[in-house]
Amino acid sequence: EPFVHVIGAGLAGSEAAWQAAEAGARVVLHEMRPARMTEAHKTGGCAELVCSNSFRSDDAETNAVGLLHEEMRRSGSLVMRCADANQVPAGGALAVDRDGFSAAVTAALEAHPRIEIVREEVAGPPPEDWENVVVATGPLTSPALAEAIAALTGEESLAFFDAIAPIVYRDSINFDVAWMQSRYDKKGPHAQESGGDGADYVNCPLDEAQYDAFVDALLAGEKTDFREWEKSTPYFEGCLPIEVMAERGRDTLRFGPMKPVGLTDPRTGRRPYAVVQLRQDNALGTLYNMVGFQTKLKYGAQTEIFRLIPGLEKAEFARLGGIHRNTFLNSPKLLDRSLRLKARPALRFAGQIAGVEGYLESAAIGLLAGRFAAGDALGRTALPPPATTALGALLGHITGGHLSDGAGARGAFQPMNVNFGLFPDIDAPDTDESGRRLKGKEKGRAKRRALTRRALADLEAWLGPARQAAE
Ligand code: FAD
Repeated sequence: EPFVHVIGAGLAGSEAAWQAAEAGARVVLHEMRPARMTEAHKTGGCAELVCSNSFRSDDAETNAVGLLHEEMRRSGSLVMRCADANQVPAGGALAVDRDGFSAAVTAALEAHPRIEIVREEVAGPPPEDWENVVVATGPLTSPALAEAIAALTGEESLAFFDAIAPIVYRDSINFDVAWMQSRYDKKGPHAQESGGDGADYVNCPLDEAQYDAFVDALLAGEKTDFREWEKSTPYFEGCLPIEVMAERGRDTLRFGPMKPVGLTDPRTGRRPYAVVQLRQDNALGTLYNMVGFQTKLKYGAQTEIFRLIPGLEKAEFARLGGIHRNTFLNSPKLLDRSLRLKARPALRFAGQIAGVEGYLESAAIGLLAGRFAAGDALGRTALPPPATTALGALLGHITGGHLSDGAGARGAFQPMNVNFGLFPDIDAPDTDESGRRLKGKEKGRAKRRALTRRALADLEAWLGPARQAAE
C-alpha cells in the first residue's frame, strides 16, 4: 500500500498528514512528544501553539494573511477548520483557544481511518525503506535529526541563532529624503544581469542630533528577554543586535552598520553624519531589508524607533527583527518545486524547516506537501498552486523566487511570513466604480483588493482539477 510518513505533528505535519490522507494515501505520523519535548512545547498535543494564540488578520479582502486563511479553508484545511471552531474574540484577527484547538486537531487525526500516529522520535536519517516522507519537525527539530539532515544536504549547519533584520515595503519609504546609491557607487559582480548600476541601496541620512536621538531611543527601548535555552547559544560577532552595539559606545553604530563612508546625500552634496542602508530583499524589488539591523527590541518599540529614521517616518514593515533558535534549510538551493530534497527526493520538507515563518505559513506549506506526497504515493500529478495565490507566493519564496545571494542579515535565505511583496504585481484601477480618482491610501487598498480577487479566482481554477483528482 502507498504509505506517506510524516515526521512531526506540529502545524505543518498535522496539516500534511490530513491532506495526504484525505487525498487517499495511508499516513504514518511520527511525533516525539510527549516522551521527548522541545524547548518551547509544553504538551503532547498535535499542532501545539508555542507562543501567541493568534493566526493574525482574518481579512481576506485586503490582507495577505487573511487571504491565506481563505485559500486554506477552500482547500479543506484541518488547521483552519479547527481554528474556526475554537475562536476567541480578537477584533479582526483570528485567535484561538490553544488547548481546544490542539485537542480538535489531535482528535481529527486520531479518528481518521487512514492515519496512524506513532509517538517516537526519528533520531537519525529517515530509514531508506520509507519512500515517501514529509519532514515537518519545525524550528526546534531534535538535534539527532537535524544533524542527519545537515549531513544529507552537505550544509554546515541548519540550526542558527536567528538574527533577523526588519524588512520594509519599498513603497512606504519617503524618497524625498532617502536616495538610491551604493557605497563608492560600486557596481556588483552581477551588475550586467541584475540591472545594478551602482545605485543598489536605499540610503536614509541622519545628522548628528538625529543620530544622538536615535541611539538614545535604542538604549531606552524595551527588549525581549532571553529564554534560558537561548542563553547557551552565543551571538555571532558579525550579527550583534543593534541595541547591544549601541550599548558598547555612542559611536559604535556610526562606525558599524550606520557608517556613512562612500555616500553623498544629493540634497546637501555632502556625506551624512550617519546612514541607514536598505537592500533589496525579493526578486520583485518590493521589499527592502535594513542592513545590519538585527534586534531584540520588542515589536512595538521597533516600529516606533525605526520611524525616527529620516525617510522611514511612515515605513510599513513586512516583518520586524528578532532573534531565536531556528532550524531551516537553504530551500531555494536544496528543494525542488514540489518541496523534495534534490539530493534525496524521497524526502519532502514542510513548515518552518522549509523556510517559512509563522503558524499559518507552516500549516500552508504542510497542506501543499501533503497533497504533493499523496500525488506521488498514488501515482497522480499534484499541480502546484498558481504564483498569484498566497499558497503559490509562499511556495515561490522557498523554491526559487527569492534572491538567495546577498539577501537577509546573514547574506543568505531567510524564512518569511506571507505578504503582498511576494506576489506578482498587478495593474490596479486608479478610479473607483463611479469614476472618481483614488488617492494615496485608497489606491493601496484598491491594489490589495485586486490582488486578493485575482488570487481567489486563480485558486478556484487550481482547486477544480485538484478536487476532481481527489474524488
Ligand atoms: P512545530 O509546530 O514546531 O512542529 C514540529 C513538530 O515536530 C513538533 O511537534 C516536534 O515535537 C516534532 N519533532 C521535532 N523533531 C522531531 C523528531 N526528530 N522526531 C519526531 N518528531 C519531532 N509563529 C507564530 O505564528 N506566532 C508565534 O507567536 C510564534 N512564536 C514562536 C516562538 C518560538 C520560541 C519559536 C521557536 C517559534 C515561534 N513561531 C511563531 C514560529 C513558527 O511558526 C512556529 O514555531 C510553528 O509552530 C512552526 O510550525 P512547524 O510545523 O514547522 O513546527
